[in-house]
Amino acid sequence: MKCNYCNKNIPEGTGILYVKKDGTAYNFCSGKCEINMLKLKRKASKVKWITKAKESKASSEKKKTDKKKK
Ligand SMILES: [Zn+2]
Repeated sequence: MKCNYCNKNIPEGTGILYVKKDGTAYNFCSGKCEINMLKLKRKASKVKWITKAKESKASSEKKKTDKKKK
């Protein structure tokens, strides 16, 4: 089961199942994801803490070039 917002894997027995009035069901790993999607209506691709988590592995090389010499 994956979080509908940040796409993280949710261990069984945890997370939040949210069902809208129209019957659409969402799985959320945490209340943080629930609030961001339903209340704040933020797009996952534009939320820093999600994109950071996704890019953390790939961006390790980028960080080196970003550092400025003192
Ligand atoms: Zn999530």
